[in-house]
Amino acid sequence: MTTQAPPAQTQRYEGPVPLPQQESDFYWEKCKQHELWLRYCNHCNNAYFYPRDICPLCFSRKTTWVKASGKGDVYTYAIVHQIPRPNYKGPLPFVIALVKLAEGPIFPTNIVGVEPDPKKLKVGMPVEVVFEDITDTISLPKFRPASG
Ligand SMILES: [Zn+2]
Repeated sequence: MTTQAPPAQTQRYEGPVPLPQQESDFYWEKCKQHELWLRYCNHCNNAYFYPRDICPLCFSRKTTWVKASGKGDVYTYAIVHQIPRPNYKGPLPFVIALVKLAEGPIFPTNIVGVEPDPKKLKVGMPVEVVFEDITDTISLPKFRPASG
């Protein structure tokens, strides 16, 4: 039996898939709804990422969830030209980046919706979140140039 690659639009994701843990279940549920949520510390008044119950800045447990604006700017980036692992089938080149969210945290992600070209990407350029549905339960937050 032979299999044929599905069209690009419905191509199955073949990369590593995040494994939600109890502390991050809410985060992934919200990502699935295409909403970006962060943990927020009510003791030192900082948002932080990745999600965990204890604030990494002051170790307080007085933390809660807050919905992020989805806005930020490019803190740094790199254009990947070589396959990152064996059997990689995704696009090349692609952009990995750290985005400084409007709420403060620096967020590891990909920049999409723009040519992977240093002439098109700038540190400090405004970006906004967009979600890629990679499985039935996991949607990855990525960032594209802000619309306005
Ligand atoms: Zn804190």
